[in-house]
Amino acid sequence: MNPKVYLVGAGPGDPDLLTVKALRLIQDADVVVYDRLVSREILALIPSGTKKVYVGKASGKHHMNQDAINELLLNLARSGRMVVRLKGGDPFTFGRGSEEAQYLVANRIGYEVVPGITAAAACSAYAGIPLTHRGIARSVQMIAGHCKSDEELDLNWKGIANPDSTLVFYMGLANVRQIRDELIRAGLERQTPAAIVENGTLEDQRSFITTLENLPEMVTTKLIQAPAMLIIGKVVQYASELAWFPTHTGEEYVADESQQLGA
Ligand code: SAH
Repeated sequence: MNPKVYLVGAGPGDPDLLTVKALRLIQDADVVVYDRLVSREILALIPSGTKKVYVGKASGKHHMNQDAINELLLNLARSGRMVVRLKGGDPFTFGRGSEEAQYLVANRIGYEVVPGITAAAACSAYAGIPLTHRGIARSVQMIAGHCKSDEELDLNWKGIANPDSTLVFYMGLANVRQIRDELIRAGLERQTPAAIVENGTLEDQRSFITTLENLPEMVTTKLIQAPAMLIIGKVVQYASELAWFPTHTGEEYVADESQQLGA
């Protein structure tokens, strides 16, 4: 058999959101190489005899650097094992899955990509926020709110600050103040509805609704921890109407900031 690596998306955390293919591959794999964002519940689905290798990264702190991960995948594949590279969300969305794929291509190792439900889709759905809504938002921007530890967040803010678009920031917590300031400077209304979804789809999911202006304060007062998504745009106004997930703890969207922080 030709060696092959499966780059598999594990989705946002709830094991019910794994694809059928992801589940089958996890159960058939000889070795599963996984990240920090792969939930405990999903790891529990890996058969006990399967080798598991943790290569997770915390923000800024790499347990194993990308070169070492690439090398590991290559060596495991060359040893003839069926390798599943399991990543949180979707492997080709802020997951560096494409870098791993490039390395495999360069080394002539076959691979398949199994898409997963990315955090933008999952967190918005579980907070009752449609990513698009007829007449309200016609586009969605998925944005990395963090770059390499020593670099300033340097984005095309004018291009991003579109009031008819939904902005979804991955890894945005540490830079939430800069994100707020730049978006307002680039022309977005201060009162644009905004949401934070922490631990989306998991039992301890929390979500909060506020305005763009008050987003950084919400992160601080609610002690928001990673992983969390920031969702900014008019679609957030639907959250209180459409919330359905039992652990939803979001406050009503109140335009008047004086009522918000005490909520
Ligand atoms: N490949 C992943 C993203 C990895 S980047 C995907 O497609 O979803 C890591 C960022 O994703 C986190 O900082 C956070 O912003 C977001 N994220 C991933 N899982 C999440 C979850 N369950 N709840 C909230 N945010 C999540």
